[in-house]
Amino acid sequence: MNMSKIIVSALLVAFLVSCSKVPITNRRQMALLPESTLMTMSLTNYRDFLMKHTSVVNNQSSMVKKVGNNMAKAVEVFMKQNKKYAKRIKNFKWEFNLVQDKAVNAWCMPGGKVVVYTGLLAITKNETGLAVVMGHEIAHAIARHGNERMSQGLLTQMGGLALNVAMSSQPEQTKKVFMGAYGATTTVGLMLPFSRMHESEADKMGLVFMALAGYNPNAAVKFWERMAANKSGKTPEFLSTHPSDVTRIKKIKEFLPEAMKYYKGK
Ligand SMILES: [Zn+2]
Repeated sequence: MNMSKIIVSALLVAFLVSCSKVPITNRRQMALLPESTLMTMSLTNYRDFLMKHTSVVNNQSSMVKKVGNNMAKAVEVFMKQNKKYAKRIKNFKWEFNLVQDKAVNAWCMPGGKVVVYTGLLAITKNETGLAVVMGHEIAHAIARHGNERMSQGLLTQMGGLALNVAMSSQPEQTKKVFMGAYGATTTVGLMLPFSRMHESEADKMGLVFMALAGYNPNAAVKFWERMAANKSGKTPEFLSTHPSDVTRIKKIKEFLPEAMKYYKGK
């Protein structure tokens, strides 16, 4: 394909997806990579990650799965009520795993593939704390932040190679960009920082999702205060952009009345 054809098709895709709006915040977004491709990468890389890490099977992992499934169920009902949102989770096959790793981290890949690290449990403390994290991570996936970041990551790190070209010619590099885009790496330099805008959007959506699942979103304030007080260990996803904790908590408090509209209690 010559350059002008590539540009024309890129613009066409951009036009087609530009109508896409992020649920809840209604932000217009330009996520240029085909979700189907990301979904395929997600399945491969999720399996690969789990093979290289020790999965935990105990009461704690049961709690992760329980909270995860509660959240997934509530999110599915909500998304399916709205036609234009429904396609965002059409091919999701939720999975929730706890891995042995002292990093304070969690992430969700396209298709609802979630990992929580044991290092995070000291801060989540209970089911509601886990729901805060789960809501935030699921929100990143549903809002297609990874897609937006990866489009950007491919442009900056790979000189704008088309994804299919990049995948076949530089599979290792493409995989690194993918893992980095979802916070699934603890290697500094490979991780693409979530922007403040993405973090704030994931916080808001996460509050609504936890409320829908019957977890009181007010608990998010205490959770982020515990997170702010935690200075030990690596916190790859959560502190990746060094958003001011004070600002983050302030914004969460401002959004709580809105989130509470979705909360019916258990
Ligand atoms: Zn985040």
